Amino acid sequence: MNATDILDCSNDFNMVLPKTCSFRDKDVDCPLPPSYIVSVGDNSEEYMIAVVCQDHRDQMEMRLKAMQSARKIPQGNVKFQDIKLVVTDCIRDTDDNSLLDSR
Ligand SMILES: [Zn+2]
Repeated sequence: MNATDILDCSNDFNMVLPKTCSFRDKDVDCPLPPSYIVSVGDNSEEYMIAVVCQDHRDQMEMRLKAMQSARKIPQGNVKFQDIKLVVTDCIRDTDDNSLLDSR
């Protein structure tokens, strides 16, 4: 598994996944490849807002909750979706919408 595989697959989703973690610490971008797609939303709407590596998952979650408190991003549950699972589903069946609803 590498970033190129993810990007190729994601074309079917009409979205482009960044090659590196979205987390920034002290103005330094994290150089690690992301492990999770981060989205927020409720049952009706969901927004993909970032990708994050394994190491920053917890810090990202705390930061997003702080941003929600400040109303900088949409309200709702913060959800982490394993990129490997997304890619696996993508390869198997891109018409399967259930992967977006899995919790
Ligand atoms: Zn990171």
